[in-house]
Formats: sequence, structure tokens, C-alpha cells
Amino acid sequence: MQVLETIGAFRAARAELTGSLGFVPTMGYLHEGHLELVRRARAECDHVAVSIFVNPTQFGPNEDLARYPRDLPRDLDLLRAEGVELVFVPGPPEMYPPDHSTFVVVERATAPLEGARRPGHFQGVATIVCKLFNIVAAQRAYFGQKDAQQTVVIRQMTRDLNMPVEIVIVPTVREPDGLAKSSRNVYLDPAQRAAAPVLYRGLQQAATLYQQGERDAGMLRAAVLRTLEQEPLVALDYVSVAEPSTLTETEGPIRQGALVSLAARIGATRLIDNILLEPDGRA
Ligand code: AMP
Repeated sequence: MQVLETIGAFRAARAELTGSLGFVPTMGYLHEGHLELVRRARAECDHVAVSIFVNPTQFGPNEDLARYPRDLPRDLDLLRAEGVELVFVPGPPEMYPPDHSTFVVVERATAPLEGARRPGHFQGVATIVCKLFNIVAAQRAYFGQKDAQQTVVIRQMTRDLNMPVEIVIVPTVREPDGLAKSSRNVYLDPAQRAAAPVLYRGLQQAATLYQQGERDAGMLRAAVLRTLEQEPLVALDYVSVAEPSTLTETEGPIRQGALVSLAARIGATRLIDNILLEPDGRA
């Protein structure tokens, strides 16, 4: 496994590879969710590249950039064990030299949900993913359903800008109690950790109602709300039932499936989660 810190070194190592390359962009502090993306890439591509970069431009001024968890030696051990060939670990000046002045703006899909609560977040995400795609030159790139709006934004960007890369979305990996795996789960104290599975329980309530035939978006939102209200440590930020490809909020009946997504604060930690309701009535 080669660990490359500069764009030049990465490109030189990448040029030595023949066959297809699968790429997994991450911010590190890896867990089973990230490793699932790596395994999928490993299964579908001849070679796998992973990037580890805590991207400053996707964090707001009052967010957790400075305290975002990091453990590069451990991350590299995990990636070595998965048979990854290339790991790109640039420092911030390598990706954003002082005169950096170009950003990628995806409209529409970035307006609601996370985009509305985290101004500039998706501009940061789209910009770094575009830069990484240009550096890594992979045939396929792997993203987690955990960050549902991000998958919509990245798909839109690659389509609109004709990027020659196939986007693959991997289902959310969860803890045994249903909590979606996240690097940010380490922020939770034991009481908060015990409360956190209520997020997924709320989503499951909506899924159960949907499977029983409920199609009214308002009823499904209310079911999630009721569940989360039972947990005093959890402060709901939003719950949304939206059209999965545009993220337009659904009012009234769901016709073509839906994305049920939420964000909540547990103490100072902000967590997101979602489930997809399929057009055929499955969830
Ligand atoms: P991050 O390091 O949080 O930027 O995540 C890197 C990639 O891993 C993104 O595509 C995430 O959606 C994905 N990811 C994070 N957590 C999970 C999870 N629990 N299950 C599946 N994918 C995940």
C-alpha cells in the first residue's frame, strides 16, 4: 500500500496502475461504514484508492473542524488489511494553496435539508470531490447512503459537468442497536450513546407505517416526530419526507417512493440519518 501526500506523488503512483480504479473519498477516523465502501470497490474494481482529508471548506465557522476525530496510523492499518493500493493523505495547503479561488456550486438539490442548515457545506463538498476526482481519475467512486443529500449532490455534479466517473451508493452500515455508524459517534457520552438509537427507531416507525400502506407524507413525518419526542436527550432539527432524486419535500401522498431523513442534536453532537421508502412499498 502506498501512502501519498502530494498530488504529484499520487498521480505518479496512479499512472502505474492498469485496469479499473475504484475510489473512496473519506475524512478518516474510519469505521465499518467506510470499510464497506472499500470492500464494494475492492469487489468491483481492479484497484482501490482511498483519500483521507478533513476538508475545511465543508465545515461552517461554528462547526467541529478543529475537534473532528483523527487517527491516521489506525486508519492506514485498516486500509492495509482491506488490500487498498493507494491512500491519498494531502495536507490542507496541498488542496487549498493560498491563491485557491475556484468553487463548485450545485444548485437546487443543495437548497433544502442539510444545505439550508449548513450554508456553504455542499459547496465545500462539491469542490473537494471535484478536485479529488480530477486527481484520482477513477472509473468508479463510492459514497454512503448515510449522507443521502450528498449522494444526490454528487450525482448531479457528475452529470452536469460530464465527469467520466460512475457513482456507486452503498447502504448505511449500522451498530447492532440501529445507530448509523459515524465518526462523530465518539463525541457521545454513555447516556447520549444510549439515547441515540431513537433516531433509527423513528425512521423505522415511518417505514412500518409505509409498509402497512400509509402514504401520507405528513402522517409519516408525525410518526418520526412522536418517536423522537420520547427521548429527552435528543433535540430534533428536522424530519423530512422528500422525493429521493430532487429532495423536493412531499406534501400529501407519496407516489414514487420517498427519502425520510432527519437531523438531531444530542448535546453538542449533530447526527443525521435516513431511510428510503421504495416505490413498490418496501422500506
Ligand atoms: P466521511 O468520512 O464521514 O466523509 O464519510 C466518507 C464516506 O463514507 C461518505 O460517502 C459517507 O457517506 C460514507 N459513510 C459514512 N458513514 C457510513 C455508514 N454508516 N454506512 C455507509 N457509508 C457511510
